[in-house]
Amino acid sequence: MSCAVTRSWSVSTSSFPRTQDFRAYTGCVRCPYCAADDDRVVDSRLAEDGSAIRRRRECSVCHQRFTTFERIDEVGVMVVKRSGERESFSRSKILSGVRAACKNRPVETETLESLVNGIEDIVRAAGRDVTSEEVGLATLNALRLVDDVAYVRFASVYKGFADASDFAREVGNLVKSTAPKSRA
Ligand SMILES: [Zn+2]
Repeated sequence: MSCAVTRSWSVSTSSFPRTQDFRAYTGCVRCPYCAADDDRVVDSRLAEDGSAIRRRRECSVCHQRFTTFERIDEVGVMVVKRSGERESFSRSKILSGVRAACKNRPVETETLESLVNGIEDIVRAAGRDVTSEEVGLATLNALRLVDDVAYVRFASVYKGFADASDFAREVGNLVKSTAPKSRA
């Protein structure tokens, strides 16, 4: 079997009891070439500014090499919703939200990934439960740096725009804050 493409496997670490354990964990991943559950890690390094671990693996059966990325899926932080309901912080939920806001916009997947990483860092650094407003605001602030249209789209949902004047006000604020400062 010849496959020149390097395959990437995402390995969830959410089943591990303590986050510090994942540094020592290597385990085995089913080989994408021959489906054997027996590999050895030939290289292991931090990726994505230390939020992920990239492992180069070699199948012990067919000796093909492949790469896995290991990152923390859920940070164990609870998000308190407006209704008072609590749910665990979901990275994938944020990602699908910003992806929807960036639909048909020239924003790279990598940019969205690092945006979500940044939000996750903020949430994790809080060291407590966060409100859905805080998560929304962090997302909004991050999107603002990425794409104006995506920002306004997200703001319309997050701030619950009722009509066109809400849009106009937000766009006005955006223009004001991004316009080069001129000395009067
Ligand atoms: Zn194999």
